[in-house]
Amino acid sequence: MKVAIYVRVSTLEQAESGYSIGEQTEKLKSYCKIKDWQVAKIYTDPGFSGSSLDRPAMQQLISDCKLGVFDAVLVYKLDRLSRSQKDTLYLIEDVFNAHNIHFMSLSENFDTSTPFGKAMIGLLSVFAQLEREQIKERMQMGKLGRVKAGKISAWSNVPFGYTKAKDSYDIDPLRAGIVKRIYADYLAGKSITKITKELNREGHIGKGVNWSYRTVRQILGNVTYTGRIIFKGQVYDGLHTGIISKADWDEVQRVLKIRQLDQAKKSNNPRPFQARYMLSGLLKCHYCGATLAIAKSHTKNGPLWRYVCPTRHAKKYHSNNAARYRIPPVNCELTYKYKDDLEKAVLREVKKVALNPDAVVTNQDDGQPTIDKQAIKAQLAKIKRQQAKLVDLYLLSDDLNVDQLRDRSEKLKVQADALQAQLIHDTKKADAFKKTATDAKQIDQLDYEHQTAIVRMLIDHIDVSNTDLDIYWQI
Ligand SMILES: [Zn+2]
Repeated sequence: MKVAIYVRVSTLEQAESGYSIGEQTEKLKSYCKIKDWQVAKIYTDPGFSGSSLDRPAMQQLISDCKLGVFDAVLVYKLDRLSRSQKDTLYLIEDVFNAHNIHFMSLSENFDTSTPFGKAMIGLLSVFAQLEREQIKERMQMGKLGRVKAGKISAWSNVPFGYTKAKDSYDIDPLRAGIVKRIYADYLAGKSITKITKELNREGHIGKGVNWSYRTVRQILGNVTYTGRIIFKGQVYDGLHTGIISKADWDEVQRVLKIRQLDQAKKSNNPRPFQARYMLSGLLKCHYCGATLAIAKSHTKNGPLWRYVCPTRHAKKYHSNNAARYRIPPVNCELTYKYKDDLEKAVLREVKKVALNPDAVVTNQDDGQPTIDKQAIKAQLAKIKRQQAKLVDLYLLSDDLNVDQLRDRSEKLKVQADALQAQLIHDTKKADAFKKTATDAKQIDQLDYEHQTAIVRMLIDHIDVSNTDLDIYWQI
């Protein structure tokens, strides 16, 4: 049998031992000798990555397949051929098989001419792809590591009020003063529009162009000013010094949310929170889990709105909303509820909570924790067990080496940290909840839209049964 040897090594691998072009070639040549095969040609791609087929020797190999000068292609390891699942399959099936050329890999000890080898191809290429994804993941972890150390990414925009420093920001005193003033003015009740106008009128430009509503709004929402950084939606402590206290920043975010409503009102948007009614989408049927739908009935005093379980009269409510087909018609036992009655009941509960938000918050902490919190804690416990098991496994068996142990436990640690962060986030959520709740003391004196906004900020969902309303708060 005439064999073509293909050898590849990436620039990075050249530095590592055991992967040099010379070593691979020698091993493959002696293997051919043992098997009594004739080496037809040796193809070498030194310093080329396996993530693309754009390599000179590889291209030569592909075109030589048509000439019939060899019967098989031999590599040292499958990933020498390619690191992509797609490319591996393309080479084996569309190039080698198409020309009746066998493919063999020394390390994995398989041969496409055998049925076992054929089955292994699929599996191995899946693993090759997995390997690449793991590399990507490690690079991501590198980024996360930087963020956790409080470092900013090299290409992040420098927020107004700071200058770029190594891995971090330095305060630009003049501009930082303007940022402080924007926050103070906003907390003192000035509107974003007013702040913008004043800044421009006073010539407080501090930057190339005039202030705009958008730039002021962005400054008010930027968590960087509290000395923290944001990465993939998570907030981490930064190395830089904050310009605004965390308490002030939190307060600004809260006020922004409330004022957004007024803004929406001014622009004549009747549905600023995408919900026409106070309880739209929040009501869940206790018996079947469906989201209650609103229905209008006509009485002599005008229209009357009711919430109904869409599965109660399956036929009737199925016809007007395709999405409801997901729920099988079970003729649910939940009786309809008048919209006004439900809203009044909910407002009563909100007022109760407003007078004593701690009752809900503490209750969630020790008595009946939210499902999420419980799940997170369970997951954390599971990771702890896995970590312990991993060490046992390492001590008791030869299956794991130190690198693998480090690798796996690092992964578990990252998971645990992320979960821990979620729990901390939960505590912050509880603080925000308390604040909003405290503000809701006078909720019965507000107009419907403000009531709606507050209800939707406080309530996650409401379990409705024939006898009870069970409110799940957003904590
Ligand atoms: Zn139901």
